[in-house]
Amino acid sequence: MSIGTPLSGTATRVMLLGAGELGKEVIIAFQRLGVEVIAVDRYDHAPGHQVAHRSHTINMTDADALWNVVREERPHIIIPEIEAIATHVLADIEAESMATVIPTARATQLTMNREGIRRLAAETLGLPTSPYVFAENFDELQQAAASVGFPCLVKPVMSSSGKGQSFITHEGQLQAAWDTALASGRVNHGRVIVEGFIDFDYEITLLTVRARNAEGEIQTYFCESIGHIQQQGDYVESWQPQPMSDVALSKAQHIAKCITDDLGGLGLFGVELFIKENEVWFSEVSPRPHDTGMVTMASQRFSEFELHARAILGLPVDTRLEKPAASAVIYGGLDASALIYDGIEQALAVPESDLRLFGKPESFKRRRMGVALARGEDINQARERAKTCAGLVKPRV
Ligand code: AMP
Repeated sequence: MSIGTPLSGTATRVMLLGAGELGKEVIIAFQRLGVEVIAVDRYDHAPGHQVAHRSHTINMTDADALWNVVREERPHIIIPEIEAIATHVLADIEAESMATVIPTARATQLTMNREGIRRLAAETLGLPTSPYVFAENFDELQQAAASVGFPCLVKPVMSSSGKGQSFITHEGQLQAAWDTALASGRVNHGRVIVEGFIDFDYEITLLTVRARNAEGEIQTYFCESIGHIQQQGDYVESWQPQPMSDVALSKAQHIAKCITDDLGGLGLFGVELFIKENEVWFSEVSPRPHDTGMVTMASQRFSEFELHARAILGLPVDTRLEKPAASAVIYGGLDASALIYDGIEQALAVPESDLRLFGKPESFKRRRMGVALARGEDINQARERAKTCAGLVKPRV
C-alpha cells in the first residue's frame, strides 16, 4: 500500500459523499495519513467541508450532479456517509472501475432502504429480527399491523433515525401513523415496514471492521459493544463497553459477521442489535461509522473514524478499548444561525472530558451541534461526566 502527496499528480484522492459530523472526523483521519480529500454535501460550510482540501455543494440524489462532481474530481475512492444518494450512479461507477465505492455499491443500495437490508438479514441469511410486514397503502397497513400484533412500530422504508416512525399500541393510532410516515419518508412515498416491538433489556451498536490482516487477507474485527439511549429515534447518550453475557456477545458477533460478510468490501460497519438476556435480534446496519460510535474518540486506541480510514486504505487496524468512556449529545436548543457556545471552560474542567463542536452553520432545536466525551473508571462515572460536560455548554445567539 502506498499513499501519494496531496494536491500533486501522485495524490491518493478520496471523496466523501456527506460531510456532516461523522464525515468530518473521517476526513480528519484521512488528512492525517496524507490523503487528498474532497467533501460533498447538500449545503455550504457543512462540518466536513471545513476540513477537506476541496468542497462541493450538490443534491446527491441528483444523478447528473453526482456524475459531474465525480468526473471533475476523479477520486480513487468514494465513501458514502449518508443514505440519500443516487446509489445507481455508484453502481455504474463501480461497474466501470472508475473508483472503489466503500464498502460496495450493493451495500449502499441495500442499506438505503429498510426493505433491502431486512429481507437480506431475515430471509436470505436467516438472522433473528423483529417480526415484520411491508405495506403500500392504508388497507395493507391495517392488515400488516393485525398480523404483526400490538405494540408495533410503523416506519417509512426510506428513512433513518426515527424519522416518520410511530409507536402503535392499538388500531385507532394507525391513520395518524400512516400520515406521519407519508409526510416524512425520503422518497418512495407510501411504503412502510410494520415491525413488532421488541421489549429489549438494552440495545447496542457493534462496530465491526473488515480490514486486511498481516497476510493481506480480509479479516473481521470487533470493537467492544457500545450501549446507547435513543429518544425520538435519535441517540442522546452512548457508552463503551456495554456489559453483556458471553452468550449474548457471541451471538451478536455472529450476526454482525454474517451481515458484514454478505455486504463485503473494506471498512467499518455499525451493526445495531437488541438484547434481552441471552437473546439477540438484528435491527439495522450502517456500512459506515455510526453516530453512537463517537464515544470511541475517547475510549479506543483508534476511533471508529480512524479505523474506517485505515481499513479502507488496506492498512492494519487495532480495535482495542483503552478506557471506559461515554458520549452525550449537545443540541442546538434553538432555531438560529451562527450560534455562540458559552461555558466551554467550565465544560472542559470536568475530569477526563473533551468536546467536539461540529461548526454547523445553522441550528434547530433538536439538531445535534456537538458532543461531549468523557473517560471514567467505569461506564457510570464516564456517563455522569459526559452528561455534566454536555450540560455546561450553553448555545445562544
Ligand atoms: P431505527 O430508526 O430503526 O434505528 O429505530 C430507532 C430506535 O427505535 C432504535 O434504536 C430503538 O431504540 C427503537 N426501535 C426501533 N425498532 C424497534 C423494535 N422493533 N422494537 C423496539 N424498539 C425499536
